Amino acid sequence: MSTRVPLGVSPSPSLMTRRDVLRAFGAIGGSSLMMGAMSACGLMGTSTPRPALQGQGRPPDTRVIVLGAGISGLATGYELGKLGYDYQVLEAREWVGGLCWTVRRGAEHTEVGGERQVCDFDEGQYLNAGAWRIPNDDEGVLGYCRELDVPLELFVNWSDANYMWEENPERGPLAGRRVRLREVKADLWGSTTELLAKAMEQGQIDAPLTEEDQELLVRFLVRAGYLDSDDLVYRPPRLRGSGNQDPYDLSALLNSGFATQVRSLNAGTGGPHPVFQPIGGMQQIPLAFQRAMGDKITLQAEVQSIHQTEDAVRVVYRDTRTGREHEEIGDYCVCCLPMSILQGIDVDLSPAMANAVNESGHSNSAKMGLQMKRRFWEEDDGIFGGHLFARSLQLGEFSYPSNDYFTEKGVLLGYYGGGQTAGLGDMPVQGRIEHVLTQASKVHPQMREEFETGYCVWWDKVPYSLGAYGRTPPPERLQQLSQADGRIYLGSAGASSQPAWIEGGIQSAWRSVETLHERVMQG
Ligand SMILES: Cc1cc2nc3c(=O)[nH]c(=O)nc-3n(C[C@H](O)[C@H](O)[C@H](O)COP(=O)(O)OP(=O)(O)OC[C@H]3O[C@@H](n4cnc5c(N)ncnc54)[C@H](O)[C@@H]3O)c2cc1C
Repeated sequence: MSTRVPLGVSPSPSLMTRRDVLRAFGAIGGSSLMMGAMSACGLMGTSTPRPALQGQGRPPDTRVIVLGAGISGLATGYELGKLGYDYQVLEAREWVGGLCWTVRRGAEHTEVGGERQVCDFDEGQYLNAGAWRIPNDDEGVLGYCRELDVPLELFVNWSDANYMWEENPERGPLAGRRVRLREVKADLWGSTTELLAKAMEQGQIDAPLTEEDQELLVRFLVRAGYLDSDDLVYRPPRLRGSGNQDPYDLSALLNSGFATQVRSLNAGTGGPHPVFQPIGGMQQIPLAFQRAMGDKITLQAEVQSIHQTEDAVRVVYRDTRTGREHEEIGDYCVCCLPMSILQGIDVDLSPAMANAVNESGHSNSAKMGLQMKRRFWEEDDGIFGGHLFARSLQLGEFSYPSNDYFTEKGVLLGYYGGGQTAGLGDMPVQGRIEHVLTQASKVHPQMREEFETGYCVWWDKVPYSLGAYGRTPPPERLQQLSQADGRIYLGSAGASSQPAWIEGGIQSAWRSVETLHERVMQG
C-alpha cells in the first residue's frame, strides 16, 4: 500500500500510526523532512539541525571553497549546493572519502618512510581501512544513506560464537584454551544465579522484598541462569554448545579475566545493537556524494596555502598530475582537512585559532586486512561476524567479516589497534603481517595455511592523513574551533565533539554551513 500523502492534506491521526506519518513525510520530502518530523515527534537527539531545513531564502552570488573530500567536505559541499551556493571542493587524492577508505584490488599507497603497497585482494574482497561501523543513532550518517541510496546491512559487533583467549598461564586453567563467549556467559550467569538463588532460599539475603517478590526473583534466577527448578543447580543448556562438557569453574572464569569483558548489555564500540555497514564497504557513502556532486569536486588538487583578506579567501593548490600550481578565489573557505595536515599548511588564522589547531591531537590507529582462501571461521568454527576477544595476543580488535557469508574467500580484520603496539609501526609491512599470523594462529591454527595476501594501513604513515581520527577536544578548544576565523570555517570531524565518528564530520559540516549561511543572509 502506498504511504504517499498529498501535500496540504493533513491525515487524520486516528487513521495513521506515528510510523505511517514518518513514512509519509519521508515519501514527500526525502529524509530531511523525515528527520524534521522525527525531531518534532521527539525521536531524535538535540544535535545540530540539518542546514537544508534552516535555508531561509537564496544566497546572493557567493562562492565557497571547500577543502578536502572526506565525509565532512562532501557533506559541506552537498549542503551548500542545495542552498544554491557556488562551491568547489578541492581534494588531494585521486579518490574521495578520506578516512572512509575501502581498500580493494588495485588500491595503493606509499607510507611516509617509503614502503609502497598495492592491494592484490581478489575482485570483490575488501577491507574498510578506516570507518567500518555505523551506530544506529547516528542520524546524520543514516539520513544521508537513505537520501543518497546507499544500501546498508547489519554489522555483527558481538557474537556468542566468538572465542575468548588468554595467553598468560598465571591466569589459571583457562589460559591457552579457546573458550566461546557463549560458554563464558552461560557459566558466569549459571554460577552466580545459582549462588544467589540458593542464598535466597536459605534466607541469607537481606533485601527489602516481600515473600512473593522473593519467589518471583527465584523464578527469574532459575530461568535466566538455566538452573534446575528442583535443586537450583546450574545445568548448562544445549545452547551453550560444547556437548556434555561440564561448566567452567567460577573461580577459573573470574581469574581468566574473561568475566570483566562480558556485561548484561554489550558495551562494545559502536553502541547498542543493531550496528550497520554499507553493503560493499564504507566508501560507498562518499562515492554516493560524489555521484550527486559531479564536477564540483576537483581531485588531485593538493592545497598549499590559504590566505584571506577582508573580502575574499585565496587558496593555492598543486595539481598532482602536472605539478602546476593553481588558485581558487572564494568569498569564504570551509576547511575540512585533517588537523594533522592543517598544522603543516601555510594558512592565515588568528593566534587563538592557530593555537587550537596546533593543540588538536589524533590517534595513531592502524588496520590490517588478511585475505583468506577459505572462510574457515565460518566452515570450521561456526563464527559469523563479531570479534576475537584476546587482549593478550596484541592484535587489537581482530574481527570476522559481516558481509558475503557462505562465499568462498573473505578478508579478516587481522589487526585494529594502536600503530605502535608490539612495535608494529617500526616493522616493515611483512613483519607486521607475520606478527598477526603468529599470534592469531594460536586461536585459529588454519591461519597460515589459508592466508593469501594482506594490506596494512598505518594511518599516521598515510600521506594526506598523517594520523587516524582526532582526539576529542576539550570544551574551550571545541568552542574556538567552531567559530569562524575571518572568512575561514573549520568543518572537519576534528572540529566536533565526535572526531572519531563519521557523525562528527557531518555535525561539523552542518554547523559550518548553517553559520556561514546565516552570515551571508544577514548581508
Ligand atoms: C581506523 C579508523 C576506524 C574508524 N572507525 C569508525 C567507525 O567505525 N565509524 C565511524 O563513524 N567513524 C569511524 N572512524 C572515524 C571516521 O572515519 C572519521 O571521523 C571521518 O571519516 C573523518 O572525516 P573528515 O572528513 O573530517 O576527515 P578525513 O576523512 O580525514 O578527510 C580529509 C580529506 O582531506 C584530504 N586532504 C588532506 N590533505 C589535503 C591537501 N593538502 N589538499 C587537499 N585535500 C587534502 C584527504 O585526502 C581527505 O580526503 C574511524 C577512523 C579510523 C581511522
